[in-house]
Amino acid sequence: AAALFAAGCAGARSPAHPAGEGGAEKKLKVVTSFYPLYDFASKIGGDRADVTNLVPAGVDSHDWSPRLQDVRRISEADLFVYLGAGYEGWVDEFLDALDPGGAPKTVEASRGADLIRLSGGDAHRHDGGGGPGHGHGPGNGHDPDRGESGNTGGRGDGHGRDAGRDFPVTDPHVWLSPKQALVLADNIRRAFVEADPDHREIYERNHGLLAGRLAELDAKARQMADNAAKKTFIVSHASFGYLARDYGLTQIGVMGLSPDAEPTAGWLREVREEAGRLGIRYLLFEELVSPRVAETLAESLGIETLVLNPLEGLTEEQLEAGEDYFSVMERNLTTLAVALE
Ligand SMILES: [Zn+2]
Repeated sequence: AAALFAAGCAGARSPAHPAGEGGAEKKLKVVTSFYPLYDFASKIGGDRADVTNLVPAGVDSHDWSPRLQDVRRISEADLFVYLGAGYEGWVDEFLDALDPGGAPKTVEASRGADLIRLSGGDAHRHDGGGGPGHGHGPGNGHDPDRGESGNTGGRGDGHGRDAGRDFPVTDPHVWLSPKQALVLADNIRRAFVEADPDHREIYERNHGLLAGRLAELDAKARQMADNAAKKTFIVSHASFGYLARDYGLTQIGVMGLSPDAEPTAGWLREVREEAGRLGIRYLLFEELVSPRVAETLAESLGIETLVLNPLEGLTEEQLEAGEDYFSVMERNLTTLAVALE
């Protein structure tokens, strides 16, 4: 078995990873900031890595920030994977405080992804003056010229803590487009190889499998969108802007980019009118939002609800049931197909 193992490691002799007790090699310690990165890192690391996720199961990562013990956990890791794109409001300060010469290696997974920057017109909505319908309301959201942005409606109020920040605001929900998820996975692959070059082959191979599955999901998303009778969907929390943009759909977000941003009465009326005009029958709402809020919202819009999962945190039950990025995204695509019938 020892010989097999050595062969599997391509003859890697690794002073950085000395044999621990029982002859097992020390695993790469990886900490991720939230679920999709945890899933990708786990799949790339395989049994070479010990991956832990900062945000506990069932918690929406929007409102999460690290406590002292989390900071210690990150500092003791070999590799820290975070999304960037303004998602983790706490991360810049955290990175500034890290010892530049020491551990952990860090990787911003969204680097190089095709990010959606909300224009001044979108972003203006967040300062309370214009209301969320200003500029890119649903009235013009379906217009082919503008619909390309795939991200109409909703309030450009960023992610909670970003509310007072200067424009432009980046839409952070980049992992929800399989096309962009390929970029995230590739950045994570590269970081693994840099942090632990001795096991490069393993990480490359595992990444190959992951990327293959993401490419399949990308094809499915395209097929779903191409076959859809309607091209516009209404979501409570505007987290599907990348999926919309990358596959030729238009998202109307009722609550905006931050799940707790309250819609104004005027905006609700606009969304309702648009739903009626386009014959939209469903409000898509996210799992971690209370169903009561969604029902109330759907009622005020005069439509029914369906559930999407923006993957910002799986529940304990979902994790135990073996759910992952792929099972959830497959379900999201199926649900979207229904909403777009
Ligand atoms: Zn979100």
